[in-house]
Amino acid sequence: MNITIIGSGYVGLVTGACFSEVGINVTCVDVDQQKIDNLRNGIIPIYEPGLEKMITRNMNKGRLHFTTKISDAVRSSDVVFISVGTPPDEDGSADLKYVIQVARDCGKHMNDYTLVVTKSTVPVGTSLKVKNAIKEELDKRKVNIDFDVASNPEFLKEGAAIDDFLKPDRIVVGVESTRAEELLNTLYKPFTLNGHPIIFMDVISAEMTKYAANSMLATKISFINDIANLCEIVGADINKVRKGITSDTRIGNKFLYPGIGYGGSCFPKDVQALIRTGEEYQYELKVLKAVEAVNNSQKSILFNKIMKYYDGDLKGKTVALWGLSFKPQTDDMREAPSLEIIRKLLAAGANVRAYDPVALNEAKHHFGNAITYCEDQYETLINADCLAVLTEWSEFRIPNFKIMHKLLNVPAVFDGRNIYDKSELKKIGFDYFCIGVNTDS
Ligand code: NAD
Repeated sequence: MNITIIGSGYVGLVTGACFSEVGINVTCVDVDQQKIDNLRNGIIPIYEPGLEKMITRNMNKGRLHFTTKISDAVRSSDVVFISVGTPPDEDGSADLKYVIQVARDCGKHMNDYTLVVTKSTVPVGTSLKVKNAIKEELDKRKVNIDFDVASNPEFLKEGAAIDDFLKPDRIVVGVESTRAEELLNTLYKPFTLNGHPIIFMDVISAEMTKYAANSMLATKISFINDIANLCEIVGADINKVRKGITSDTRIGNKFLYPGIGYGGSCFPKDVQALIRTGEEYQYELKVLKAVEAVNNSQKSILFNKIMKYYDGDLKGKTVALWGLSFKPQTDDMREAPSLEIIRKLLAAGANVRAYDPVALNEAKHHFGNAITYCEDQYETLINADCLAVLTEWSEFRIPNFKIMHKLLNVPAVFDGRNIYDKSELKKIGFDYFCIGVNTDS
């Protein structure tokens, strides 16, 4: 089977690499010529564990190709996946211009039956728009070519994307015909053989499933952060409360960690987009509005603690930051809490020294010369007036506290991910602050 993936970003590259890994002939398309040239030369635009090797291996086997020529790719494909970006519009709704553009391109170039599958995260009703755009182009060409549209939202997690794709918790597919169902069943067979479920449903339900899933995950984060903030005020310890509640199997112990808010390219935009969908249908999603509001204020919580520690004056102070990406195992800084924190620190007149295992280049695009980039986590601490931990990379978990104490100008640690033990740090002589724990005692 020949397939085409249009949009060679996180989702497109992982999808393309994984399908080629199981022997399918895959062409990845992008409008970004530089990106395609780089990919052809084995330069991968993103950091994702295992991806570079998988892409190189399959390119060398002749099963994975990169091109900017959408026409050739569509013409020679049985299935076309759309995995272009769906960034938020000014009002928060998903901007579908790239998706619709690709749908039009499909209509312009398909020459026999093609299944067009939307993998991008798109609001309810988009598949119908995709179908209409294809139909319009076919009508313009005055040809009558049979095609199907399907919705196959992607659930991969950046940082664990390959594993998520190869061993998915579930594959969700919305279809309108048996032909489309059979094609996708065949295509995904290598990934479902070991009992990983593929769930077929109607297209609208599939589109809704993706938003509902991300909104649920975002809700868990805002819920635990809200409870954490109250814990801190009343003198409870969120770390203990978390253990207490997550031992209930109905609640479960995943994804309920207090922190400095969710970020990334998906949760913020998908929560907003679902709120807008609700509004479009005159339904107010009250829970999600609160989820968004809690998250927005949570992103400032560590900055506020640092500000308070220095009595509201950070002018000339140096703040060391460990971790910039929105979560470990990725260089993605889209909507990362670090962006908000750094902007606030700079506006308050502080100097910032930052280290991240993989996101420094990404950070340079955002902050240029405004902050100091360090190649080592301990280097950030030299003459710094405190340390703030923003991303829970493994290498930050058991650092050498004695060296840290020695290097820091002022031994104050602001732990935005609750990875350290309060009593251990206090014993060494640190002032220690985290989320949802009153650290005065
Ligand atoms: P991305 O921004 O990394 O990549 C999108 C790519 O599409 C870019 O390389 C861009 O140049 C290309 N593109 C845009 N218009 C094009 C066109 N007309 N033809 C060909 N290429 C075009 O985006 P991403 O993170 O891969 O996300 C893609 C979609 O998948 C989004 O809807 C996103 O919400 C969803 N999603 C993302 C993740 C994730 O973790 N990143 C997970 C699940 C779902």
